[in-house]
Amino acid sequence: MMETTYSNPLLDDILERSAALHRHLCPRQVLGARMGILAGRLLGLELPQTNKRLLTFVETDGCFADGVGAATGCWLGRRTMRLIDHGKVAATFVDTRTRRAVRIRPHPQARTEARRYAPHARSRWHAYLDAYRVMPDDALLEAHWVELNLDLDRLISRPGVRVVCDRCGEEIINEREVHREGQIFCRGCAFEGERYVTMATAIPAQDRSSHSHLRGLPRPGRVLPLSAADSDGQQ
Ligand SMILES: [Zn+2]
Ligand SMILES: [Zn+2]
Repeated sequence: MMETTYSNPLLDDILERSAALHRHLCPRQVLGARMGILAGRLLGLELPQTNKRLLTFVETDGCFADGVGAATGCWLGRRTMRLIDHGKVAATFVDTRTRRAVRIRPHPQARTEARRYAPHARSRWHAYLDAYRVMPDDALLEAHWVELNLDLDRLISRPGVRVVCDRCGEEIINEREVHREGQIFCRGCAFEGERYVTMATAIPAQDRSSHSHLRGLPRPGRVLPLSAADSDGQQ
């Protein structure tokens, strides 16, 4: 049985920091914050963390992820948050020391129940916003112990490792390279299906005129003339 959370200065503080990132507060930030707080309790970790012990997988981006970040101290920029973009308001929290992992999702009845916790809210949206702050954990959320289906050590990798792709010449960090027939490739060069932009084509020098940015949208595969982009007066 989970503990009940009613008045909660910790949550207020988290939501203040989360809302500051957006200039607004919304139900999904609250959900993210509540999940982060619950994860800390279930894993026995003091959050928001100042180290990198907790690793969080969020299953959607957007406001939700910032609620999670504010509560846990896990951020993309600290390599402690990863996006698994399944379009779900859910997250898995991993204690990288003990390897324990808990996945938390909204309770299936949370939306229906919300009205009871905020009967005077002026809209459904406001009801969610208010109710999600005060609903007990077991009415708002569901938590399951899970095991990771991926290699945590590989994912985290080691700082300072870098190689260069034999095809595109770009640097690859965090051991994300692919070894094939004695050569090293980045994932985009190794697997066409993973290339999310078209292959860049170097642009001949004569095409780099300062007017090229005025001729409509840049053509794919062209190197953008950056000098033209930031000096409009240069005709
Ligand atoms: Zn929002
Ligand atoms: Zn490459």
